Amino acid sequence: MKVVYSIEDLRKTVQTWRKSGETIALIPTMGALHDGHLSLVSIGRSYCQRTIVTIFVNPTQFGENEDLATYPSDFIQDKKILEKANVDLLFAPSVKEIYPSDFATQISVKGLSQEMCGAIRPGHFEGVATVVTKLFLQALPDTAIFGEKDFQQLQVIRRLTADLNIPVKIISGPTVRDADGLALSSRNSYLSESELKIAPVLYSTLKSAAQAIKANNSNIEHICEGALQSLLTAGFLSVDYFDVRDENTMMTVTKIKGAERIFCAAHLKGARLIDNFKL
Ligand code: AMP
Repeated sequence: MKVVYSIEDLRKTVQTWRKSGETIALIPTMGALHDGHLSLVSIGRSYCQRTIVTIFVNPTQFGENEDLATYPSDFIQDKKILEKANVDLLFAPSVKEIYPSDFATQISVKGLSQEMCGAIRPGHFEGVATVVTKLFLQALPDTAIFGEKDFQQLQVIRRLTADLNIPVKIISGPTVRDADGLALSSRNSYLSESELKIAPVLYSTLKSAAQAIKANNSNIEHICEGALQSLLTAGFLSVDYFDVRDENTMMTVTKIKGAERIFCAAHLKGARLIDNFKL
């Protein structure tokens, strides 16, 4: 596996592949890799001849009081994992490489970015949208793979790709979970042993709420409120949202028509967890 740190070296490698007619899949990550990330690499490999993984802890998507300084990182281990997964290229730029001191541009996706995590974490999706646009334009991949674990992020990226006519096919991968249902996440390493016992309740609560909603379509708000309360009873400290939303617009719905998901963000002391479940 080749490892490059500059945009120039990324472009050079991509150009060589393009000249020989090879197709390219891009998988952006923030590192601290787990099987969820690797599932996206496998999807990329099934679509394209070459895979590029990026590792960049993007400062612009973190709020002031968030965990940028402590975000888990193990570059040597990540490199080993990617080599074993037969990734062709790892792009691991510095913050300066992506954001030179005179950097002044921001990509903002209206509507979608203001709901749920966007409302709770102002500026988060602008940071995501800007860095992903930049990665797309430098790597010019045929496809880019994103996890459904971060479903709102996936939809923001789909929107900006369509709106800016960026010729990249966006493919989503299902959420990879521990045996107990907890969605894998780099931030799970923040959780204590006792919190790791509470955390899977998020997924089981999403599943039970989905069952209840399917059985009693008209009572969505009531069911979500009950689910939110049961998360607090289980030991979550607070819940940012527990909502049924249209998958495409991210707006709340009162009736299930076939393109909805339940979304939740909830806090344990160690970490804020997000998850979602298709209805
Ligand atoms: P991150 O490194 O957390 O920014 O995530 C990089 C990519 O991996 C994003 O597209 C995430 O949605 C995806 N991802 C994170 N966790 C999972 C998971 N448990 N299953 C599948 N994809 C995931």
